[in-house]
Amino acid sequence: MSMIEFKNVEKYYGKFHALKNINLEFEKGEVVVVIGPSGSGKSTMLRTINGLETISSGNLLINDKDIRSKETKLTEIRRNIGMVFQHFNLYPNKTVLENITLAPIKVLKLSETEAIERAEKILDRVGMLDKKDSYPSMLSGGQQQRVAIARGLAMQPEMLLFDEPTSALDPEMIGDVLDVMKKIAHEGMSMIVVTHEMGFAREVADRVIFMAEGQVLEDSRNVKEFFEN
Ligand code: ADP
Ligand code: ADP
Repeated sequence: MSMIEFKNVEKYYGKFHALKNINLEFEKGEVVVVIGPSGSGKSTMLRTINGLETISSGNLLINDKDIRSKETKLTEIRRNIGMVFQHFNLYPNKTVLENITLAPIKVLKLSETEAIERAEKILDRVGMLDKKDSYPSMLSGGQQQRVAIARGLAMQPEMLLFDEPTSALDPEMIGDVLDVMKKIAHEGMSMIVVTHEMGFAREVADRVIFMAEGQVLEDSRNVKEFFEN
């Protein structure tokens, strides 16, 4: 069973046809990179998976449950499939540590002590433990993005989605964020990454999907060959 399955999925924004007959399956353990020109529907495809966009027709199954069925709870999907955005989306009035402990306490019902212990371990993994008492505005974009990744990891999700995680960063910050992403990929996290970073794709991806004008034009598990052609 695939973790995520798109069957004949279409998405319209008004009259604009953003996703055209998408048929894709994503498995647990895969690191998938989605590339393609701006406006080709990559972000839309990603955002449908955790219900940030609705689909217009077709079926989208998450762990075999249709995302549009009445029994499907988006909060459950979002607990299980984390997302990292281009613009970090951290809470500005909370410290780094509070940003990370919030959902584990509220949603997973961890005690504050457990949540802090978990958060500190993860902050250490992303190289941000020394900034745990800082507020987001005191951090660089690259540091904020590493905190956003830590926040995703703190929920111990089955999968993490990344929507152009380095596109809003100054060039000198990009490497640190990609290094963290490489590390968690090597630790076995299931990931779908929309990015323009071809070096990352070539090095880390198990599979590359190429989209253009709302369609999947290529879907290759032979990443090396994909980039040679
Ligand atoms: P990509 O991630 O490949 O750059 P997007 O999925 O963000 O592409 O967008 C695909 C197309 O859909 C673009 O032309 C974009 O302008 C349009 N689009 C995205 N979101 C909306 C929206 N909320 N309303 C109308 N059009 C949208
Ligand atoms: P980010 O860079 O943070 O991913 P985007 O600029 O891609 O943000 O999009 C921000 C929001 O605007 C998204 O919810 C997206 O769906 C919406 N959006 C994108 N393109 C359009 C558009 N052409 N018309 C209306 N809304 C759009």
